[in-house]
Amino acid sequence: MGRLGLKIDVDTYAGMKNGVPRLLRVLNDFSVRGTFFLSIGPDNSGRAALQMIKNPLFLKKMLRTRAPSLYGWKTALYGTLLPAPMIALSFTQIVKEIINAGHEVQFHAWDHRRWQDELMTKSEKWISEWFVKGIDGFEKLTGKKPTAFGAPSWLIENRVLSIIKEYKFEYLSCTRAKTPFIHAIANLPEIPSDLPCFEEIDAQKGISIISDLLKDGGTHVLPVHAEVEGGIFQNQFRELLEKALDMNIEIVSLKAIKDKLDIKYLPSRKYKMELLPGRHSACAV
Ligand SMILES: [Zn+2]
Repeated sequence: MGRLGLKIDVDTYAGMKNGVPRLLRVLNDFSVRGTFFLSIGPDNSGRAALQMIKNPLFLKKMLRTRAPSLYGWKTALYGTLLPAPMIALSFTQIVKEIINAGHEVQFHAWDHRRWQDELMTKSEKWISEWFVKGIDGFEKLTGKKPTAFGAPSWLIENRVLSIIKEYKFEYLSCTRAKTPFIHAIANLPEIPSDLPCFEEIDAQKGISIISDLLKDGGTHVLPVHAEVEGGIFQNQFRELLEKALDMNIEIVSLKAIKDKLDIKYLPSRKYKMELLPGRHSACAV
């Protein structure tokens, strides 16, 4: 029987506030569970406007995905004309609801936007502090330390893999590789998101593209975004879950996938960076 892991990233304030409760209802309707990767700190989404000037692919993606309707105009101003609100830290109750519903909760980001736009130019100190602030906040919200990290935008670099050795992570989900592997440097198993997300392909076509990929009976991970599948693509997300369950596919958290992996047989290697179809910047694979 095939298995489908749900990797649900929460990247923005609006995604946490509106997208997560909607997704919790959808997942509850199907009695399935997944893994929520939370952005803890400030929502600096508005700084993306700077990216539009610097990166024409980003502007193209924003127009193609109708970003303003996807994310809302307010989100487009956070961190510039409007102050940056805290994401998970503003919604203690929603975090509790995720946990009480039996989902896995893990660490995605302190400041998602700045990581995604500025990681390569930042000092090692900045990266270390980013983790300290994020993990402190995560602990405040959940009473525990995270046991996994999923990097924003699937962007990592060698310094990140060295820094995270200090934390007791059990696995990473930082890449779009096709199959799990052991990260060289960090020496941790990687559970990659191997399927495309709705944002990268037309959502309606995406349902059949993704369900075709599930037909091989293997284990797959679907990247989901609270602000997208918990927003304008919620009906398509429902349809996809329905199809997967009709195909007798078990829908699970990433921890469940990690626990069934025979880690000693996984290859150890370094990640590579690659520009995937439908994305505006390179992802680790
Ligand atoms: Zn993200």
